[in-house]
Amino acid sequence: MSNEIRVFCPATVANISCGFDVLGLALETVGDGMVVRKTTHPGIRITKVVGQELPLEAEKNVAGVAGLALLENLGYQEGFEIEIHKKIKPGSGIGSSAASAAGAVWAINYLLDTPLNRTELVNLAMQGEKLASNVAHADNVAPAIFGGFTLVRSYHPLDIVSIPAPKALYATVIHPQIEIKTADSRKILKTNITLAQGIQQWGNLGGLVAGLYTHDYELIGRSLEDHIVEPIRSILIPEFKTVKEEVKKAGALGSGISGSGPSIFALSKGEKTAQRVAQTMKDIYETTGLDFDIHVSPIGTEGVKLI
Ligand code: ADP
Repeated sequence: MSNEIRVFCPATVANISCGFDVLGLALETVGDGMVVRKTTHPGIRITKVVGQELPLEAEKNVAGVAGLALLENLGYQEGFEIEIHKKIKPGSGIGSSAASAAGAVWAINYLLDTPLNRTELVNLAMQGEKLASNVAHADNVAPAIFGGFTLVRSYHPLDIVSIPAPKALYATVIHPQIEIKTADSRKILKTNITLAQGIQQWGNLGGLVAGLYTHDYELIGRSLEDHIVEPIRSILIPEFKTVKEEVKKAGALGSGISGSGPSIFALSKGEKTAQRVAQTMKDIYETTGLDFDIHVSPIGTEGVKLI
């Protein structure tokens, strides 16, 4: 067994409109790189972060916090060094912090001969997420570790359900270069919903899960609705309404806010439609004068993986 591995840590789209804090999906082709190696020096050392300005102190970096939680959980006396090659911009809403937290625990577990299962890894990676957003949510780290779509059926105890994605399903994601911190975009949410809102939301959540299992793309599209969080958070995202209307005309099944924003995701059947949706998003954002990135990717089936 090698003492050093390189892993791919996928970007993830959380919430997926109707699954606030419980649903997420992993992207196949967008993500960070991470190098993790065993050392005899106890604890976690972040030796390098390439691509973004992020803290090197283990206690201030989600990779360090998640890794330390794992070492403590196992009572492991030696340590690990971590190099992070950041491609996912922090605060983008496509799980930048989750990629690091998930990558760290997955890689350390691999180097220790996999003593922990994937749900246990999600639980530990959530401690990293707590550092980034003050809430130990699992909707990004679960798909980052399991791959595909995941549903957090319960937080106490943690129960993750892995949902298969139809092969032709593609995600298009636009990241406008304005930073919205998850912690800030949580603050503006209301803490109560009405029964009528609940009924709409769990109808859509059931519809989306059923659509994924039966490969019913129309049902997936109809279920991509959110009457609770999107009306509030979308105010922070330039051209949100226009993007939503126009991507539908371009053939997308539906769209919504990726995680806590500012990224907007759309799901489409087939790469050709997903590329047309990307062009539509680009045309709209070019009129705003804002910088942006656009990604088109199949759903990642594996989550964190060796490279
Ligand atoms: P995202 O949804 O893109 O993960 P968040 O706002 O949830 O965005 O998290 C980003 C925050 O986490 C930033 O304040 C960033 O400085 C902090 N952070 C600490 N370590 C990392 C890391 N390894 N990768 C990304 N963000 C990190």
